[in-house]
Amino acid sequence: MLKGFRILHAVLLILAAIGFLTFWVRTRFWLPKYAHLLAAIGGAVGLWCLANTPDDAPISKQSAIAKLLFVLGLPAIVYFFFVLYGGQRAAYERHFGTSVPCPYCKLPVPARHNPNSTTDGKLSYTERKCRHCGQTFESQRVPDEAERRGG
Ligand SMILES: [Zn+2]
Repeated sequence: MLKGFRILHAVLLILAAIGFLTFWVRTRFWLPKYAHLLAAIGGAVGLWCLANTPDDAPISKQSAIAKLLFVLGLPAIVYFFFVLYGGQRAAYERHFGTSVPCPYCKLPVPARHNPNSTTDGKLSYTERKCRHCGQTFESQRVPDEAERRGG
């Protein structure tokens, strides 16, 4: 019973990770600045570790490429967990309000909820043009789900 839940949990985590990974690809690998800062700190820690390894440590006998990969290990882990645990998606939606598919290329583009009472709950594009395909949006208002399906 408990084992079943653990398998289910693992499957859900993997499915979520795939979703977050595809979202990251669809947003053209967008990352907030602080993610790069965290990765840079990771890189600095890696460099510091490498500089402080004794001469008889296994890494000291490796090639320069292996040493470079060792230093890049921590930044890679930072990006890996940031993207696969949904940090990238949360940061994207926080940064741009929310995202809707572009009517032309279907890639996610930033949108925000209208504060106006007559259009309450409606979304509008944050930018005039699609950041991916460069198409200009006919109106700033995002079509509803039904309108998008209809054509
Ligand atoms: Zn587009």
